[in-house]
Amino acid sequence: MQSAIALPFSQTSLTRSNRVLGSTGSIFSTPRSLQFCGLRREAFCSSPSNHLTLRSDRVRIRSTRFQVSAAATTNGAPPKSFDYDLIIIGAGVGGHGAALHAVEKGLKTAIIEGDVVGGTCVNRGCVPSKALLAVSGRMRELQNEHHMKSFGLQVSTAGYDRQGVADHANNLATKIRNNLTNSMKALGVDILTGFGSVLGPQKVKYGKDNIITAKNIIIATGSVPFVPKGIEVDGKTVITSDHALKLESVPDWIAIVGSGYIGLEFSDVYTALGSEVTFIEALDQLMPGFDPEISKLAQRVLINPRKIDYHTGVFASKITPAKDGKPVMIELIDAKTKEHKDTLEVDAALIATGRAPFTNGLGLENVNVVTQRGFIPVDERMRVIDGNGKLVPNLYCIGDANGKLMLAHAASAQGISVVEQVTGRDHVLNHLSIPAACFTHPEISMVGLTEPQAREKGEKEGFKVSVAKTSFKANTKALAENEGEGIAKMIYRPDNGEILGVHIFGLHAADLIHEASNAIALGTRVQDIKLAVHAHPTLSEVLDELFKAAEGDAKIKLNTNEDDPRKWRRDDEKEPSVSKDLVVRSASMSSFIEGIYARVLSLVSRIFV
Ligand SMILES: Cc1cc2nc3c(=O)[nH]c(=O)nc-3n(C[C@H](O)[C@H](O)[C@H](O)COP(=O)(O)OP(=O)(O)OC[C@H]3O[C@@H](n4cnc5c(N)ncnc54)[C@H](O)[C@@H]3O)c2cc1C
Repeated sequence: MQSAIALPFSQTSLTRSNRVLGSTGSIFSTPRSLQFCGLRREAFCSSPSNHLTLRSDRVRIRSTRFQVSAAATTNGAPPKSFDYDLIIIGAGVGGHGAALHAVEKGLKTAIIEGDVVGGTCVNRGCVPSKALLAVSGRMRELQNEHHMKSFGLQVSTAGYDRQGVADHANNLATKIRNNLTNSMKALGVDILTGFGSVLGPQKVKYGKDNIITAKNIIIATGSVPFVPKGIEVDGKTVITSDHALKLESVPDWIAIVGSGYIGLEFSDVYTALGSEVTFIEALDQLMPGFDPEISKLAQRVLINPRKIDYHTGVFASKITPAKDGKPVMIELIDAKTKEHKDTLEVDAALIATGRAPFTNGLGLENVNVVTQRGFIPVDERMRVIDGNGKLVPNLYCIGDANGKLMLAHAASAQGISVVEQVTGRDHVLNHLSIPAACFTHPEISMVGLTEPQAREKGEKEGFKVSVAKTSFKANTKALAENEGEGIAKMIYRPDNGEILGVHIFGLHAADLIHEASNAIALGTRVQDIKLAVHAHPTLSEVLDELFKAAEGDAKIKLNTNEDDPRKWRRDDEKEPSVSKDLVVRSASMSSFIEGIYARVLSLVSRIFV
C-alpha cells in the first residue's frame, strides 16, 4: 500500500491533487503556510553543538545491499563528521516516537519543528477529537431515556455548554503537547524550532539559515487536510477538521463531505450535540474502506436511527461559504456522469475528504527525490527512494508523509522501526498487523484484511478463506452495560489457522482489537490463541468466543459434528447479524463460565476464610 487512498480508513478514493487549499483558502504550496509559534526560541538561536545529549560511539550504520542513489555525489559530498546521529524533521507523534526510541538507543538526536510539538494528532487530530467524542458519548447516554430507565436511573434533561466542551478538547491537547515536549526535553532530545529542509546528503537546514548534519535523517512532516478543487474553505461555515475541533459553533444543519473515519466521528459529535447531518459520499456506499459487513451494521446503528441523511455516488463539485445572509451552497454532481444532481443549502459544511502529505519545500530535489501525489516514496524499511528508483542513503520518511498508513501509532511504529535499523538491527514493520479504530459510539476497529480483500488474496494464492463471527449480545459485561449491539468477525485460513483480519463493532472495540493485532504481529495461529484464557466477565470474552468459533484443519477441527452449534459460524453462513442460536449458545457458555467462576470463588473463600 503506497498511498493513503488504498488504506482501510482513507477518506476517499478520489484522485488527489497536490494543490491543497490551506485554512485561509490560500494555496498551501510553500513552507510559509506553517505558523512559527516559536516553541523553543532558544533552540532556534543556539548552536546545536551546545546541546549536551547522550551519545553512543557504538552506533553502527547498516550498510545497505541495495543500489544507492547518485544524489549522494551530485549534491555535495556527505559530511565527514556529524552534529547529530539522528535529525528528525517534524515533531508529530511519528517524530516523537522516533526521537524517544533514538535517545533510548544512545543516539544524539535533534528534532526540528516548524509549528507546535505534537503535530496533527495532538493538536488537530486524535487528541482533541477523542475529547469531543468523550463528551458526545456521555451526552448520547444521558439523552437516551430508555437506556437510563433500563438501569433504573432518572436523569433530568441533559444539556451542554459549548465553550466548556471546546475547552475540554483544547485543554487536553495542551496537556498532551506539554507531556510530549517534556518527555523529549527530559531525555535530552534537542528541540529545534523552524522550518526544516534537506540541503543534501546528511545535511539539513532549519529556520533562517542554520545548517546541521547527521548520520541519518528522518522526514516526519505529516499531512494537512485535503480540500478538493471547487471548495472554498472560510474556516467559519465551510471548515476542515482543523477548525471543527475548536468547536466554535454547533450548526443546526451540517453537511459532512466524506464518510471515512474522520467524517463518521464528527457525525457522532455533531448529532449528540443537536445538529442534523447530511453525508456526501463520492462512492456508492457509506464508510468505504471498512469491511462491508461491518459498515452495513454500523450504518444500521450509527446512521439510520440518528438525525443523519446521506447522498452517495455524488461529488461536491462546488461549495460556497455562507455570506450576506445566504446559506452555504453545495453543488452536487453525479460521481460517474458528472451531471448536476442537486444543490444543497446548509448552515455549515465540514470537508472530511482525506489528508494530503505535507512535503512542500522540503528540498527533496537536492537528493533527487520526486514525490508521488505529494507522498515521499519509501521501501518497506521506510528508506526514501529517489527519482531513479534507488535508495537515498541515510534518508528515511515515516508517518503521514509517506502515506503507507495514515495513523498516529503507525507513524510512531515506523519511526521506532527506522531507529532499530540505524542502530544495527534489521526491522520490517508488518503493516497488516497495525490496528485502526473509529471512536464512534459504539466503536469500530479493525486489523488486517477485510473479507473481500482476503478472498481476493485467497483466490490469487490458492488458499481457502473462512470467517467466524460472534456477538456482543451474548457477552455478560456488554449486557451489564446495556450495550449488547455489536459483532466481532475474524477472517482466517482454515488450512493453517493464520489470522488474516479481525473487525469489531461494539463497546470498546478500539481497546479489544489489540489481542488480534498482537496475534497477527506475532504470527499466533487460531488453534493456539483459542486456548488462551480470558477473565470473566469481560468484553475480551467476545474475542475469546471468536477464536473458539474458528474451525481448523484436520488436527484442530472443531466442527465434526453436524449438530455442533458452532456450525452456524462457518464461512458459508451468510447472516451477519446475531442469530438466536448464537445468543442461546453463548449465553449457556456464559453461565457455564459463571458456574466455574462461582466454584473457584467458593473454593478460594473456603481456603482463606
Ligand atoms: C480529526 C483527526 C482525527 C484523527 N484521529 C486519529 C486517531 O484517533 N488515531 C490515529 O491513530 N490517528 C488519528 N488521526 C491521524 C493522525 O493524526 C496522523 O496519522 C498522525 O498525526 C501522523 O503523524 P505524523 O508524525 O506523520 O505527522 P503530524 O502529526 O502531521 O506531524 C508532522 C509535524 O511536522 C511539522 N512539520 C511539517 N513540515 C515541517 C518542516 N518542513 N519543518 C519542520 N516541521 C515541519 C508539522 O508542523 C507537524 O508538527 C486523526 C487525524 C485527524 C485529522
